[in-house]
Amino acid sequence: MAADPVADVLAIAAHRDDVEQTCGGTLLRMASRGLHTAILDLTKGEAGTRGSAEDRAKEATAAAKLLGVRWRQALDLPDGAVENTLENRLKIAQIVRLLRPRVVILPYWQARHPDHAIVATLGYEACFLAGLSKAPSGQIVLSGAPHRPFKIVYASLYADVRPSFVVDITPFIDQRHNALMAYRSQYANQAAGSGLFVAEEEIRERTFAEARHYGLLAGVRYGEPFVQKEIGLVDDLTLLPVQSI
Ligand SMILES: [Zn+2]
Repeated sequence: MAADPVADVLAIAAHRDDVEQTCGGTLLRMASRGLHTAILDLTKGEAGTRGSAEDRAKEATAAAKLLGVRWRQALDLPDGAVENTLENRLKIAQIVRLLRPRVVILPYWQARHPDHAIVATLGYEACFLAGLSKAPSGQIVLSGAPHRPFKIVYASLYADVRPSFVVDITPFIDQRHNALMAYRSQYANQAAGSGLFVAEEEIRERTFAEARHYGLLAGVRYGEPFVQKEIGLVDDLTLLPVQSI
């Protein structure tokens, strides 16, 4: 991956393959605009039913290539037991300082998987911490210049919530699917955990149907949903997208 890891957009997620499912199309769209994108996975997937952490590392690298991201790493937070501790906030803040993103994508704060919900607040607080010159203890424990992202948005695909906006991923839907399918240990048809996992064709149907649903809400074919906490700001009413009537 690139020697200079500065990123315009950084997606932070609990597990390898979360980003592929929730905002992979958006990262592809940003890369197609010439922006630099990055992914920080917080765990290595050691608690997964299928495949080892090593398998998932290789798959994550392959998926990153397919998504056109310039930088991807995984921290060593415990899979299935991600906690919002100062130690974990500092680990993430150090990466935020390294990559200096303008935009950070986090998972939405209500989720079935506790790791996803925690990462919404853990990631937010880490972004705040990255902008402080001293840690709350008064010590300087982070290297690099302070940096706080301008914008934080929440990928809300897993959540039953009305999105603030949708990103049109129509040209990128197949490539996003290819990136998800790079996780062969998770998604290729196999015997291990077949009671827990759905077949490959079913995954395609589900993920395309979700993308179609959010696309329809925005008047495009395929979309990915996001929530932002801030209000929208408009310059020119005549340029507002998404038809009303
Ligand atoms: Zn996950």
